[in-house]
Amino acid sequence: MNETRRPLIAGNWKMNRGGASGVALAGELAKLVSSLPHVDMVIAPPYTALAACAHECDGTRLEIAAQNVHAQQSGAFTGEISGAMLVEAGCRWVIVGHSERRQYSGETDEIVAEKVEASLRARLVPIACVGETIAEREGDRTLEVIERQVRAFIDIIDASDVPVAIAYEPVWAIGTGRTAGPSEAQEVHAAIRGWLGRKTTALASRTRILYGGSVKADNARALFASADVDGALVGGASLDAASFGAIARAAEALVPRAHSNEPA
Ligand code: PEP
Repeated sequence: MNETRRPLIAGNWKMNRGGASGVALAGELAKLVSSLPHVDMVIAPPYTALAACAHECDGTRLEIAAQNVHAQQSGAFTGEISGAMLVEAGCRWVIVGHSERRQYSGETDEIVAEKVEASLRARLVPIACVGETIAEREGDRTLEVIERQVRAFIDIIDASDVPVAIAYEPVWAIGTGRTAGPSEAQEVHAAIRGWLGRKTTALASRTRILYGGSVKADNARALFASADVDGALVGGASLDAASFGAIARAAEALVPRAHSNEPA
């Protein structure tokens, strides 16, 4: 953690809690976030629960993300949802390029870049996901792959005045119980910040880089202690208020005392 960036803890509910149970969880988390003044907390319910969760969180510091967005603004795209529609449903954030979408829905680096651009056009804050597979890591290609994925959208985020988030999520750590060690995570986060810094120092210092991949209450603190880890994108553990709250509390406990009290 670093005193210039507020920690961001985002929960990706995936295809879970799409109805009343999601609204109930959002309500619990909305109460909990009031005791964590230094942490920004975001939940990403399924599309079907976005508006209801946004309504439930109205007036609290818990913000809503979608899990995906279409690159076009409107038109004949059956089953798709535009950025403007997400804003209308109460979203301020959107997860883009999650590895499950790259893997199961054929999202390429180019499509992810188009979606980052579409999000920013709609004034949504993208959480752009990058990550290597186990074969890429074992083939010593981690940094090469992450650099290619980041370069696909780096000019777009540099040109925008909206500070975005990047989530480093090693594919082999998602939902597997395996997690990158703090030094493995820090190595990739520092590399990402380095590439951002070659664009501008401002881009490097304003972009929050989250770690994702089996983050739990018991490993969060060690991950957050690294200088370039600004929070987490959490899957499984975000479906339970106590677990998600414990991860957010680990971030709150590490916030440098010099940090601003002002919510973002
Ligand atoms: C995710 O889906 O983004 C994720 C990190 O999942 P999990 O925490 O369950 O590994």
